[in-house]
Amino acid sequence: MVGLDNAGKTATAKGIQGEHPEDVAPTVGFSKIDLRQGKFEVTIFDLGGGKRIRGIWKNYYAESYGVIFVVDSSDEERMEETKETMSEVLRHPRISGKPVLVLANKQDKEGALGEADVIECLSLEKLVNEHKCLCQIEPCSAVLGYGKKIDKSIKKGLYWLLHIIARDFEALNERIQKDTAEQRALEEQEKRERAERVRKLQEERKQREEQAELDGTSDLAELDPEPMNPFQPIASVITENEKKLGKEKKKQKMEKVSDGCHLKHKMEHEQIETESQISDNGQKSNESGLVENYKEALTQQLENEDETDQRSSESDNGKKKTKKLRMKRNHRVEPVNTDDSAPKSPTPPPPPPPIGWGTPKVTRLPKLEPLGETRHNDFYGKPLPPLAVRQRPNSDAHDVIS
Ligand code: GDP
Repeated sequence: MVGLDNAGKTATAKGIQGEHPEDVAPTVGFSKIDLRQGKFEVTIFDLGGGKRIRGIWKNYYAESYGVIFVVDSSDEERMEETKETMSEVLRHPRISGKPVLVLANKQDKEGALGEADVIECLSLEKLVNEHKCLCQIEPCSAVLGYGKKIDKSIKKGLYWLLHIIARDFEALNERIQKDTAEQRALEEQEKRERAERVRKLQEERKQREEQAELDGTSDLAELDPEPMNPFQPIASVITENEKKLGKEKKKQKMEKVSDGCHLKHKMEHEQIETESQISDNGQKSNESGLVENYKEALTQQLENEDETDQRSSESDNGKKKTKKLRMKRNHRVEPVNTDDSAPKSPTPPPPPPPIGWGTPKVTRLPKLEPLGETRHNDFYGKPLPPLAVRQRPNSDAHDVIS
C-alpha cells in the first residue's frame, strides 16, 4: 500500500483491520498488517509516503503481489506529485505487470475530485497501459467506517485485487519467488561488499598505525582522523563542554565589540566619504583593516576604561589628565574632559550610546543636573569637583546625536 503522505493509507489499513481509522498517526517507515480475507492470508505493508522515505518502497516491490495506491482526492494541488509518484512505482521492473488498485480516497470531503477527474489528473489509463498493469479505481472514504462497516468501495476494491492475484497466482508467484531470490542475492552481495570495504579500511588503518610506530610518529589522529567515539567518559565530556562554554562567551564578547565598532565605523565612514570624497575602491580595501584596528583598539580601550575611570575620579581640580590612544585620524579617542572651565558653562548631556554599543559604562557617568541648574557647591557650600563628561571612545565631538 503506497501513496503520498496524508493520502489516507494508514486510515484505510486500520479500517480493513477493524480498527478505528481516525486514531492514526502518520506512518514513519512502515507498518505491517496481517489479515485473513476468506481463503486468503494477506499481508499489507503500509509504507510511509513522506518524500524522503519513498525510497524504501522499492525494497518491497519484489515480494509484492499487487499494489494498492491511495490518493487524496481532495488535494488537487498534489495531483501532479501523485501522478509522478505513481508513474515511478508502475514503471519499476518489479512492479510493471502487477495488478494495481487505486483508492480515490476522501470522497466525503467537499470538492473532492470524482473518479473520472482522478483518472484524468493521473493520466491513469495511459500509465497502466504503458506498464501493462491491470487496474481498478474505487472512489472511497477511509473514515466512513471500519471493520464490517468499512466503506463498501474499499471492500470491493480489495476483493477485486485479491481475485486478480488468485487468478494469476501461479505466474505471479513464480515471478515473485524469482524476484525475491534475486533481491536477496543482491542484498547479500551488497552486504558482502560493504563488509569487504570495512575490512579493507581497517587493514589500511592498521598498516598506517604500524608504519607510524616504526617512524616514531605517535600522532595517529593526524594520519587518520577517526570519527570521535560518542561514548566518552562523562568527566571528560563535562570538562570539554566547560571549555567550549568559556570559548563561546569570549567569542560573544568579541562579537559585541565588533558589532558596536562596525556600526560606529560605518557611520564615520559615511561622514568621511562626504567630507573628503574617498574613492570606493580605496574605502573597501581599507575597511577590513580598519575594522581590525577598531576591534583591537576597542578591546584595549574597554580594558583600560576602568582604570581611566578611577584615575579621572581621583584627579584634582587643578590637574588635567588626558589620555589619548594612538590611532588613525578618524578613529581618535577624545581625551577625557576635565577642563576647569567645564563646570562654568552649562554642561551638555553626554551623547547617548550608539545603537549596538555596549552600555555598561554609561551608568558610571556622573549624574547631571537639569540644564540651567548646575550646582557648583555641595550641600555644605564646599566647591564640588568639576563635572567630567567623558566622551565615548572613538567618537567625534559632533557625533551621534547629529
Ligand atoms: P497516510 O499518511 O497516507 O497514512 O494518511 P493517514 O491515514 O495518516 O491519514 C491522514 C489524515 O487524513 C488523517 O487525519 C486521517 O484521519 C485523514 N483521512 C484519511 N482518510 C480520510 C477520508 O477518507 N476522509 C477524511 N475526511 N479524512 C481522511
